[in-house]
Amino acid sequence: MLNIIIFGPPGAGKGTQSDKLIEKYKLVHLSTGDIFRANIKGATELGMLAKSYMDKGQLVPDEVTIKMLEAEVNKHSNPVGFIFDGFPRTKSQAIALDNFLKQKATSISVVLGLEVEEEELKKRLLLRGKDSGRADDQNPDVIQRRIEVYKNETFPVKEHYAAQQKYSGINGIGTIEQIFNALCIAIDAVK
Ligand code: ADP
Repeated sequence: MLNIIIFGPPGAGKGTQSDKLIEKYKLVHLSTGDIFRANIKGATELGMLAKSYMDKGQLVPDEVTIKMLEAEVNKHSNPVGFIFDGFPRTKSQAIALDNFLKQKATSISVVLGLEVEEEELKKRLLLRGKDSGRADDQNPDVIQRRIEVYKNETFPVKEHYAAQQKYSGINGIGTIEQIFNALCIAIDAVK
């Protein structure tokens, strides 16, 4: 299997690039943010819980997120592979994912880290907030909080996979096509 983690801060372009990558490599796209938003829309119990954290720019608790992610993976029989987008976002989520994939006799192939500096992220998120109507992209305080959460809780995931020689940093500034090409080169190197 080809299992990719697309990694990076909020606004780095993970969703945009995932859409292109799943088409090219025929992978299943699992975005925890999208799954939470679908649950909020459907007014499920999980959605209500997730919303209470997302509106504040905080992470949904690991236990809930891990259980949800594993259930989503289990919905697919014989996939070519997965793109994990927005997951893992904490070191415990990374450890849980590694163990879960190991039970399935597979593992993460590569972690693609989109690297974009903070000022650019804030600009992109506010712009996305205007276009998409996403509440968490419209409030500068919530955006700042998400960036802080990324630095404190999510950045250690990079070290976790760097220690396994699986982290590949990609410049997230450029045209969508340029970034996509750089991602494809990194994927083809491990395929
Ligand atoms: P972005 O990467 O732009 O912040 P996402 O759509 O990936 O957007 O995530 C939106 C929100 O959903 C996060 O701020 C967080 O509250 C919640 N979330 C998404 N993925 C996770 C996760 N793996 N663990 C905990 N919370 C998550």
